[in-house]
Amino acid sequence: RTIEIDPEGTSAAYAADPVFRQAVAEMQAETADDVASLKRRKIWMVNSTESGGGVAEMMETVVGLIREVGAEVTWAVMETDESQFFEYTKNIHNLLHGAGDPDKLQGDAEATYEAVSRRLAETIIEHIGPNDILCVHDPQPLAAGAYVVDELGIPAVWRCHIGSEEDTPESKATWAHLRPWIEQYDRTVFSLPEYVPEFLTDRTDIIPPAIDPISPKNRHMKPQEVAEVLARSALVDTDHPTTQFDQVARRLQRDGTFAPATEPEDIGLLFRPTFCEISRWDRLKGFHELLEGFARLKESIRPDANGQTTFDSDSATGHRGDAHRTRIADARLLLVGPDPATVSDDPEGQETLEDIKETWQALDDDLKEDVAVVVMPEDQVRSALVINALQRSATVVVQNSLREGFGLTVTEAMWKRAVLAGSDTGGIRAQITDGENGVLIPDASDPDSVARTLDEVLGSKEQWDEWSLNAHRNVTDEYLVFRQVTRWIATARNAVE
Ligand code: UDP
Repeated sequence: RTIEIDPEGTSAAYAADPVFRQAVAEMQAETADDVASLKRRKIWMVNSTESGGGVAEMMETVVGLIREVGAEVTWAVMETDESQFFEYTKNIHNLLHGAGDPDKLQGDAEATYEAVSRRLAETIIEHIGPNDILCVHDPQPLAAGAYVVDELGIPAVWRCHIGSEEDTPESKATWAHLRPWIEQYDRTVFSLPEYVPEFLTDRTDIIPPAIDPISPKNRHMKPQEVAEVLARSALVDTDHPTTQFDQVARRLQRDGTFAPATEPEDIGLLFRPTFCEISRWDRLKGFHELLEGFARLKESIRPDANGQTTFDSDSATGHRGDAHRTRIADARLLLVGPDPATVSDDPEGQETLEDIKETWQALDDDLKEDVAVVVMPEDQVRSALVINALQRSATVVVQNSLREGFGLTVTEAMWKRAVLAGSDTGGIRAQITDGENGVLIPDASDPDSVARTLDEVLGSKEQWDEWSLNAHRNVTDEYLVFRQVTRWIATARNAVE
């Protein structure tokens, strides 16, 4: 099934902003030669669904911008409701991450996967032209695309959004299983070089994920709007555990006399120093370890029976003096994630959220006041605006993932000039250069390591401006959707050559 995209939409949206108008013009200039060499070839983007998940979310923007550079492109999604088909591909996804059930790679489920893929291939063959380029995303349409290539011999690309740095017996067996299908394709695309299996290194292009700078989640917000969104969001009406937010937001609502700030990041100064992590409720996002690390940071300024604190005895921390001690005393932590009921493909979300809430319940009263567990509103646009506002208002955005494929939350926060503390893993390591555009948490699984990093970043105020500017630049250069389109066009050309 092909998805229609508003032909006016993309150009009009970016034309409204001079910076993005310029970015589109640069993208057109950079791709001009490649686009000329693709003449009369239509690019087919095929993925599993029209909505839900990051791939679908970005597709409309990417396809719209590919048209903007003068290439022909069609977006098609799969039409099948065979649950066994998706169980099979979900298992492949898990296996590539070192989980999943290797016994289920063969047998009934595989037979269904192949049968559905044959049917899909026939449908594609009916519509695709002999000069067209087939770009297939992830394991769901992988075999269907391979059958099309086998039949028509057209240029083809397989884009894999899954990435794991660790080779496990499961992932190796799975790659071996997928290999005959993948080898039908001229090119493959991965998000990071670390994720490319060895047998594909000679035919792979790297295309990291990207963000859309005019989407509700990433568009510019004036400080007043940031404050309004926070004040008006569901955060205000929750009795607990969002007490601190409540008070600030109520004050804003009541008298509206907050000092107007000139930069978005200044809005954070209206509140107390705030650490904020926004993620799905997934154990691998390291919420627990972050909460524990935050608790240890607070403990460091609490006097023991002899009136001593570790803050005083720790020369690395103590030299920053009383102002730093006050910042630690005032600091709070926001743990933010979606309503698990709205995330259908993440069955462990509810349990993880309950666990975090229980841990929060068990905290000392003092500490309880300083930590908020925040569940996002169900409405997607509203939730996007709240995320946007939180990433702009937090003093430090934290991403303490124990493992992370790429970490779009990091990209989104860097785009907004946030001060970043992210764990030293996978895609976060690819985005944050320690001490240049943020700081890395050496060991996200160790609360002491987390506490030390929070302490360091909170005490490095004089470097915040430099870090946040570098972060914004990094995203501008590498991770905006314009760059992604340039890379896609180059990949399409590589597939034809
Ligand atoms: N996100 C969201 N609502 C939430 C938490 C996260 O919409 O409550 C978004 C977040 O802004 C980001 C995406 O979900 O765009 C998560 O992508 P990421 O690569 O960070 O992690 P993943 O969830 O894919 O593991």
